[in-house]
Amino acid sequence: MKKELIGLSKQEIESLVISLGEKPFRAKQLWQWLYFHGQTDFDKMTSFSKDLREKLKTNFTITRPKIVAKQLSKDKTCKWLLEFSDGQRVEMVYIPEEDRGAVCISTQVGCAVGCKFCHTGSQKLTRNLTAGEIVSQFMVARDTYGEWPSPTNETRYLSNIVVMGMGEPLHNVENVIKALNILTDGDGIAISRRRITMSTSGIAPKIVRTLEQTGVRLAISLHAPNNEIRSQIMPINNKFSIEEVLKACQEYQAKDGSRYITFEYLLLDGINDSVDNAKELIALMKKYKLRASFNLIPFNSWPGCAFKPSTPQNIKAFADTLEKAGFAAPVRVPRGQDILAACGQLKSKKDQECG
Ligand code: SAH
Ligand code: SF4
Repeated sequence: MKKELIGLSKQEIESLVISLGEKPFRAKQLWQWLYFHGQTDFDKMTSFSKDLREKLKTNFTITRPKIVAKQLSKDKTCKWLLEFSDGQRVEMVYIPEEDRGAVCISTQVGCAVGCKFCHTGSQKLTRNLTAGEIVSQFMVARDTYGEWPSPTNETRYLSNIVVMGMGEPLHNVENVIKALNILTDGDGIAISRRRITMSTSGIAPKIVRTLEQTGVRLAISLHAPNNEIRSQIMPINNKFSIEEVLKACQEYQAKDGSRYITFEYLLLDGINDSVDNAKELIALMKKYKLRASFNLIPFNSWPGCAFKPSTPQNIKAFADTLEKAGFAAPVRVPRGQDILAACGQLKSKKDQECG
């Protein structure tokens, strides 16, 4: 059977090239064809002899996930439904800003964490994505926006990556680490590590090592100021409490004073959105002496979910309380509202349509 190249590490590509009887520098050239030029056709790898191109064609494949659906919102947010070779599907979203933008990628099909407010969580875990499946999502975005070969940092529309799509990245650590190291490799896709943010629901024991091995930024889905509320909406909190998660955050920051953590905080009406909740959150941050900013997220409701979004007045009062205490607390502007915005909704609609 032919071996898939996308998702192999530099060392693995080198061993394969050497096993074909080629010199190691050919491995670097192949890497650049794959990840700098985004080339998917061996015949167009013009720095290789015809003989080598034939050998590569006989032994390897270069695969992109299939685009099952693509929706473009009025605000230019773009959402793809992608299908892998076994028919499993995930969503990817591009959220453009003025002269740059973030691509939101998935790490699992479904998710086992089961947060009560999350549409993906209601779909259970089907399987982990491979490193190649994680990387190739971003490659599809580059194909779509014509960003090959890798443009310089200043001219990129697809400038940032957020690992905030379907799945819990720290439940698929090895593949996520491998994928992030491919995405950030300077000879290929070359997204700066500081332009990638990985969001986790707080799998405490895996936080520090994963960040150490990738150098990307950390976001924590906190969503509550105490264990009682957090356990009610995020059952994972019964396994890793707020204290354990924040201790891991402290350890992460202790190694490098420049590391800021973003705490995501979803505002749910009557659950976690009072001014008292905000004050408790401030006390928590002060107790752990964390350098933190908040990202306040308006709840995206979906059919069958028990929660309601906070009112604009409550969101404002919550944000003001945090900001008065010196924390940045921007409210995320909802994007792509006209194209089934809650993560997992496009997938579930298409799954129903396709049986
Ligand atoms: N599993 C990881 C990353 C994917 S979820 C995590 O939980 O952090 C990415 C973000 O989307 C999380 O902060 C999550 O809490 C948030 N989210 C989930 N469901 C949402 C919804 N219905 N509306 C708004 N944000 C949601
Ligand atoms: Fe999983 Fe994140 Fe959704 Fe929770 S919010 S169920 S961890 S994808």
